Amino acid sequence: MLEDKNPQRTSLAELGEFGLINHITKYFSISHKSTLKGVGDDAAVLDASTKQTVISTDLLIEGVHFDLSYMPLKHLGYKAVMVNLSDIYAMNATAEQITVSLAVSNRFPLEAIEELYAGIQLACETYHIDLIGGDTTSSTKGMLLSITAIGKANKEDLVFRDGAKPTDLIVVTGDFGAAYLGLQVLEREKQVFKVNPQNQPDLENYTYLIERQLKPEARKDIADLLKELDVKPTSMIDVSDGISSELFHICTQSKVGCKIYEDKLPLDPQVINACEEFELDSTTIALSGGEDYELLFTVPIDAYDKIKGNPNLSIIGHITEQNQGLQLITRGGQEIELRAQGWNALKES
Ligand SMILES: [Mg+2]
Repeated sequence: MLEDKNPQRTSLAELGEFGLINHITKYFSISHKSTLKGVGDDAAVLDASTKQTVISTDLLIEGVHFDLSYMPLKHLGYKAVMVNLSDIYAMNATAEQITVSLAVSNRFPLEAIEELYAGIQLACETYHIDLIGGDTTSSTKGMLLSITAIGKANKEDLVFRDGAKPTDLIVVTGDFGAAYLGLQVLEREKQVFKVNPQNQPDLENYTYLIERQLKPEARKDIADLLKELDVKPTSMIDVSDGISSELFHICTQSKVGCKIYEDKLPLDPQVINACEEFELDSTTIALSGGEDYELLFTVPIDAYDKIKGNPNLSIIGHITEQNQGLQLITRGGQEIELRAQGWNALKES
């Protein structure tokens, strides 16, 4: 589908690896003082400064993590950067550099790689990130994309998963479930397209869902917001696999339990409508959908006045003693045990 849309095809073999790297990286510029040497030498050089260095890597594989029949390459490039930046922001750190490694089969022409890097470049510009290196190689089948993000933070600003204490409030940014439902909409359209390629999809009612799936944004703004509010989280994690799964990580590592409230989960109206249409339970989707790339953190209870009413933040519950377990309080007041049924990259589909 994708390749057919592009009439111009330049084979990667014509350029060679160095030609390709030069061709792609000429559009990127360096903007951080800490980047002493970027692309073009045997290794990049960063100024270590007096701060702590924060590093995170992700590997994305075609057919496992993304499907190019509905994921445009530019969006894939953008999203792959977001996934990594999100992990850096979840440490309450600032992201500054990335490296990008790519393996592609000869089914991809140069123009496809340009599209992918256009998305990576847009993300770098928008989030003020330097591309400082990486590798490009051929694969026998499909595409593999690995990105490493490098950030920094003052030692006293870093936030880990293991600092939550009983009575702490559990806070989330943004809303949940939209990216998962966006994927369901795109999957459905793909099936319709297979049956009738003439069929033009009507996606008007799903714009927010599809945008959240194809062009997620990492929460770069939250570290600054928390500074402004004068709140330091006791623990923090980014929500890539659904709220349940991330709460399990926080509670396990902090040796605590938690109580969250069904009626406090922030949902977009499009999520509620799509759940009705797909006959899905919106709470389950919010808790287990995944790919929201929002942040979940805990704050001491005396920060309540600073957090409440902020349009970016929702208080969804509180931390309890470990022996209380992980509980969801339903709208009807019933207590049910939370299960970590987050999206699992290794599970059989
Ligand atoms: Mg993470």
